[in-house]
Amino acid sequence: MKTRSVLIVDDEASIRESLAEWLTNKNFQVATADDGELALMMIAETHYDVVVLDIRLSTKSGVEILKEAKKYRPNLKAIMITGYPSVETAVETMKLGAIDYLIKPFDPETLELKIEEAIRPKFFYASLHKKAFDDFVASLMRVMTVYGVMKRNSKFAFDRVVNPKDIVLDYDVTLLPPKKYLLPQVETLMQFRLGSSFQVAPSYERDQRVLIGVHPDDLTAIELLDQAFLKTSPDQFYISRRENTTIIAVDNLHPSPTAFCPSVGTAVKESGFDLLLTDLGEEYVITIGSARGKHLLEQHADAGTASDIEVLAAKSEQSKAIKRYQNTLSVPISEIPRLLDRSYDSKYWERKAENCLNCGSCVMVCPTCFCFDIQDEVAVDLSEGVRKRQWDGCVLTDFAKVASGENFRHSRGSRLRHRMFRKGKYIFERYGALGCVGCGRCVAACLPDIASPLKVFNELKEL
Ligand code: SF4
Ligand code: SF4
Repeated sequence: MKTRSVLIVDDEASIRESLAEWLTNKNFQVATADDGELALMMIAETHYDVVVLDIRLSTKSGVEILKEAKKYRPNLKAIMITGYPSVETAVETMKLGAIDYLIKPFDPETLELKIEEAIRPKFFYASLHKKAFDDFVASLMRVMTVYGVMKRNSKFAFDRVVNPKDIVLDYDVTLLPPKKYLLPQVETLMQFRLGSSFQVAPSYERDQRVLIGVHPDDLTAIELLDQAFLKTSPDQFYISRRENTTIIAVDNLHPSPTAFCPSVGTAVKESGFDLLLTDLGEEYVITIGSARGKHLLEQHADAGTASDIEVLAAKSEQSKAIKRYQNTLSVPISEIPRLLDRSYDSKYWERKAENCLNCGSCVMVCPTCFCFDIQDEVAVDLSEGVRKRQWDGCVLTDFAKVASGENFRHSRGSRLRHRMFRKGKYIFERYGALGCVGCGRCVAACLPDIASPLKVFNELKEL
């Protein structure tokens, strides 16, 4: 079974083919590309354990490829190869996150050793028999609030766990993302009292909680929320919840028919969790992603060490799951901002949004939408009040309305366009990652079937 995958990008056929032959004989699964655009498309669609990247290519340079690919695959492991070495490119590629730099000609065995070293697991792995999972959750419930995924009619939702047996881990997608535990739909920010002395009491949530069953795409969305609420504009209410939240993720082996995570690089995650479970039938292989996760496991679970075979089997399950997704983006992610720019004045947007109901469902179910509105509720005698924050959304009619009554986005088309620009351009340019993680919730929630960023980006290519 070949479970270690390598992509070789080189426009010299002799080098590409000889390296591919050597690594294939050493039991690597090898793919090749002779051109930069093709390489970017392949990296967006498929997770490779290592990418071997020639620096001087006929179209895009290896440096450009690395820079673009890192935007949507930040954990990409790239080994740069070149026949024209220079200190500048060596330093630049290392700064961009390349893990090694080899000067041609080199012995293929040297490359093989570098690849082996790069993919040797840095994580520690545990295994937990499924029969012991309920006891693990019950033990957690004794010391913290536990939220998990449960069946609700034919759908799934995160809710507070009362009985560990209610937790479902082989679900496709939840109605609302786990975002609601970090940025609630409605929250009280503070209470205030007016009068001779003005008093303000902020409402921080500091209870220890664990979220069980977060999928890799929702982990990526939480990383985006972290960028916005921990780094760009530190928000004490978010920070307080985030610091007290442990995340036990689970690989999504049963993707929903509307999801497109592999196309946006979110189907498999190597960071963002404390523990990650992969279902192997009778047991879970657990990837330990943080000291907090390790501690939790040691204190609350009867887990053993996972064998190399179990870890390989978990990786194999992840790879198989990627093939179960039914929707594919037909443009490289790096092209999306340009396609959007080109479409700004197109009639496409009004046509596309003609049947929009302004219902807001697409933004309310989205794990990466984080716009909110703030309102004060004041007592009739003005003596006291509360300040509340609640989710808001750019497709709602009043979102861009200002005090004078002017609405900066009065047409359906302008609102839909803004949502897509946010998903494919504004967030991308600010944080270096798409504002869409491909969960497909908006696609399922939209009655006129116009909310899918995947469809819009694919359609823009044809304009
Ligand atoms: S835009 Fe749609 S598919 Fe993308 S993350 Fe939001 S809900 Fe999921
Ligand atoms: S795009 Fe669809 S889900 Fe979003 S507001 Fe319009 S009708 Fe509602």
